[in-house]
Amino acid sequence: MGDPTWEVKEEPGRALSARLREGRTLLVSPHPDDVAYSCGGLLAAVGRPAHATLLTVFTRSAWALPKRLRRAGARVISARRREEELRYCRLRGLTGYQALGFDDASLRGYDDEAEVSSPAEADAVRGAMEDAVADAVRASGADTVLAPAAVGGHIDHLLVHGAVRGAVAGGGALALFYEDLPYAGQHELADVERMLREERGLVPYAGVDISAVVEGKVRGMYVYGSQTDDECVRETLRHARRIASGPRPWARAAGAGCTAHAERVWAAAPAVAR
Ligand SMILES: [Zn+2]
Repeated sequence: MGDPTWEVKEEPGRALSARLREGRTLLVSPHPDDVAYSCGGLLAAVGRPAHATLLTVFTRSAWALPKRLRRAGARVISARRREEELRYCRLRGLTGYQALGFDDASLRGYDDEAEVSSPAEADAVRGAMEDAVADAVRASGADTVLAPAAVGGHIDHLLVHGAVRGAVAGGGALALFYEDLPYAGQHELADVERMLREERGLVPYAGVDISAVVEGKVRGMYVYGSQTDDECVRETLRHARRIASGPRPWARAAGAGCTAHAERVWAAAPAVAR
């Protein structure tokens, strides 16, 4: 059996949308906003899923874009983020929301540089966080778990990626990994793909044409007003355009041959392909 490529059969993007619409899905977000940024187009394409829960891990934070909000401190910022999450759940018709309540990197003493260059293994929060994620995955009864691939190496994203890999090992759920945005948009595409294959051991699972719902995705990003600026939206859309610009089977399947925006998800490489 060879290494799967994007040229998988039968419009995998549409099959994935149907799976999320009809099945039981757990959407795992390191921070409030990551799911909206990274796979919000897929969720908009799904419409109203039957059973989808948003699980956000690092929900306490001292960071916000507006300076006034930043000065208000962690309690006020964390409450604002919760409001944004609940609004996003309503917008996307998600049936559940679970906040795990861990302190994000800004509250654990990392600065901007350290949070994208530190190893996850040494972080003191790791054990408790992995246990909490494993419990949540088990309790969700999800048949699909959608989690970060940790593109960009943010320590909170690495921790959640590792926790989900551990939690789904040997279980019945299909684990898929989204490309973390806007981080993925800040690197060369070839570097992103090489990292996902070689460092994470992932292979392409599906590309999703989000051209028809891209405005809805952007609306979802701006729900997170405490964190979203225009530059973040631009980087996200630039990535969506560049991955849509190659020859892709889902564009041909749509009959238009002109997919303008896309998102991708990856899966763990089968042992035989490693
Ligand atoms: Zn994040």
